[in-house]
Amino acid sequence: MGKYTLMALPYAQDALEPVISQQTLEFHHGKHLAAYVNNLNGLLEGSGFENATLEEIVCKASGGILNNAGQILNHELYFGQFCGKPTKKEPTGALAEAIAKDFGSFDAFKEEFQKKGATLFGSGWVWLSADKDGKLVITQETNAANPVQRGLTPLLTFDVWEHAYYLDYQNRRPDHLAALWAIIDWNVVEKRFN
Ligand code: MN
Repeated sequence: MGKYTLMALPYAQDALEPVISQQTLEFHHGKHLAAYVNNLNGLLEGSGFENATLEEIVCKASGGILNNAGQILNHELYFGQFCGKPTKKEPTGALAEAIAKDFGSFDAFKEEFQKKGATLFGSGWVWLSADKDGKLVITQETNAANPVQRGLTPLLTFDVWEHAYYLDYQNRRPDHLAALWAIIDWNVVEKRFN
């Protein structure tokens, strides 16, 4: 076993159905993310990044180490933001106020976020992040990139790699993105912002 281990999901494999099926989670978490963890562990020795955090690797490394560390960081944020039965349908408190200030309304935010996810060409991630002044921004990041590389704090992300949705939605990426709102644990997202 290497330095990194596969994160445990904070819910059961079937908890996110029907939005994300058990089969998709088994492959996405149990195969894809597990492969990134194994790959990074295999690349660390002699790299100079043996004692670095994932964030440090993502900001300083290149090549395979960057790609695998980036995908681990991205997926830990992604899988960590869901729950099967969220207690609230939208954010409250400081995050709700920031969304209203920076996007006009929660619905306008959702529309822009989904659009940026749907129009990202190829594989990547759409992110909601905060800058150092607390201003919210939506960015498209390709492949394994993460907003920490731009000095931003990542809050919420939708994975638009085909492995995230193809078993359940095939080519219908926009339908998958629209469905994800029902399983967001806004308590987790608010904690990242506060
Ligand atoms: Mn993925």
